[in-house]
Amino acid sequence: MPKTGKTNPEATAAPEPHGAELLKLSRSLSLARSKLHAQDLRLHAILDNLAHGVSLYDRQGRLVLCNQQFLDIYRLPPELGRRGTTFRQILEARVAGNTHVGDDVEDYVADRLSAVREHRTLGGIHRLNSGQVISMTHQPIDDGGWISTHKDVTELHNMQAELTHLAYHDALTGLPNRTLFYRRVGNAFQDIGRTSGFAVLCLDLDGFKAINDTLGHAAGDALLRQFAARMGACLGPLDSAARMGGDEFAVLHRGGDGETAHALATSICAATLAPYDLDGQVVSIAVGIGIAVAASDGSEPDELLHNADIALYAAKREGRGGIRSFEPELNRIGVDRRRLEADLRRALEFGEFELHFQPILNLRTHAFSGFEALLRWQHPERGLVPPSDFIPVAEETGLIVPIGNWVIREALAEAARWPGELKIAVNVSSVQLVRGSLITTLVQALAASGIGHERVEIEITESVFLENSEQSLDTLRQLRALGVRIALDDFGTGFSALGYLLAFPFDKIKIDGTFIRALDSAEGAETIVAAVADIGARLMMATTAEGIETPEQLRGVHAAGYTEAQGYLISRPMSRDAVRRLVLGAEDAMPEAPLEQRAAG
Ligand code: C2E
Ligand code: MG
Ligand code: MG
Repeated sequence: MPKTGKTNPEATAAPEPHGAELLKLSRSLSLARSKLHAQDLRLHAILDNLAHGVSLYDRQGRLVLCNQQFLDIYRLPPELGRRGTTFRQILEARVAGNTHVGDDVEDYVADRLSAVREHRTLGGIHRLNSGQVISMTHQPIDDGGWISTHKDVTELHNMQAELTHLAYHDALTGLPNRTLFYRRVGNAFQDIGRTSGFAVLCLDLDGFKAINDTLGHAAGDALLRQFAARMGACLGPLDSAARMGGDEFAVLHRGGDGETAHALATSICAATLAPYDLDGQVVSIAVGIGIAVAASDGSEPDELLHNADIALYAAKREGRGGIRSFEPELNRIGVDRRRLEADLRRALEFGEFELHFQPILNLRTHAFSGFEALLRWQHPERGLVPPSDFIPVAEETGLIVPIGNWVIREALAEAARWPGELKIAVNVSSVQLVRGSLITTLVQALAASGIGHERVEIEITESVFLENSEQSLDTLRQLRALGVRIALDDFGTGFSALGYLLAFPFDKIKIDGTFIRALDSAEGAETIVAAVADIGARLMMATTAEGIETPEQLRGVHAAGYTEAQGYLISRPMSRDAVRRLVLGAEDAMPEAPLEQRAAG
């Protein structure tokens, strides 16, 4: 190789002092350049590995540098990433790629440019028109330019939104939950005065529990979803519904008053009644609704919802599918009820219950055939509380199970002291047939008292057939298998009473006292009373006429062919001791007389 390089005077000639300086300078320049290049590389390595998109602009609004993430987030072509691209070009490309914010493009561009001019710091979460959610900062720097960071937080944001949704909604129906409902009611209170009034509706399904218990939870869930959809279809554009838990729902009715709330409740009740198809099983339910109107029925969410609940309770007391609006009088009843419930819980333990016995007259032999045990609650302050006041509460709370078991043991033990031909009738509520330990208790009480099974009569009412009738019928069959008799009480007061006679072979029908009372006044009562006696005779069932108060009534039912009669005319319910005196004679009626004594007598 010719030594061309060496001929270069710059390189080969003896270095002049000036040339040496230059060489030094050029070396340090290239050193600096390669350092700079290395720095630049490092800077880009850092930028490209940041989780954020970064863009840096000079004071003229020209891009100094940016990283790939920045281009990716806004779907910008690579050539726009070059130094010198104007901020306006970038904004325009974003508009073209739909990665800008808002409807008005000019507004958006003007807004961003004015932030730049005014050296304002910007920041926040923006939802781009593309749907992406970007966390952005815009920070002016000393030389008049600015640096922006951009992070795509769409996934995080959606996750958060989902979590928030989960925290405030019921997973089964998708409806808002109690927490969100309370918040909405709170907001509605704040809006009072600005918009028109509002009301809350508390809803509770009738008959849900029975369906859930018998058909299973999947069917129960399906029923709740179908109900929620029907309720939703009744709502106006300002109304919103919530699931408060179990089979309880609530509606916030905005922009209306008590009257429109009642109309809404009526339409929900009607929509609820149509049959539901649960995977082939057709069932029907009803809904009870309580209404409280802001602000007359409550000035804060708690109070308003509480009062709507009280109204709901009153609606449910009045029967299936009822609607009640709150009134202050209900509050007093509510307080009374809570107190009653608390007292009832202690009544058994404190020995506050006793049984009275009403004689039943056999109309063929004109002798007493037995007694019906009627529960009495001697309350320490209230005095005697009638069963109609506390039995519904005992049924709702489930307390009827231990109380009813006590009645059975007590009634059979008492009957064991009477002459052997006298029967004992015990009222049993439908709740006891479905849950509780009725059969076990009865078997034990029969054994403990030693009385003949055929002396025991269980009185049930038609309500047994309203809920969970399959399970109830099953229990009735088991009772029958024990050899005890079954009577259908208060006959004629329920729905489709005749149908129940086909459902189970009762030993006795007790026609309700209202028909007997109607004998004096209502036309047609006589025909009904006679027809029931006839039905009983044809089905080989005994018939008892309840509530006989006058000799005419007694004559009437006797003529109609009833086999038994019961009522104040014959005897009011009597205390245990009075019955003992009646059936045993005075000296045998001493308390706790041993069985042998009676047997000997
Ligand atoms: P029920 O089983 O139909 O009992 C008859 C009710 O009519 C009794 O009311 C009785 O005192 C009343 N009565 C009897 N004769 C006459 C009359 O001539 N005129 C009028 N107006 N009423 C008469 P009571 O004792 O207040 O019981 C009411 C209901 O409470 C009973 O109706 C029964 O359904 C229920 N009950 C009573 N004791 C028990 C019990 O131990 N368990 C359950 N589950 N329910 C009970
Ligand atoms: Mg009865
Ligand atoms: Mg009755």
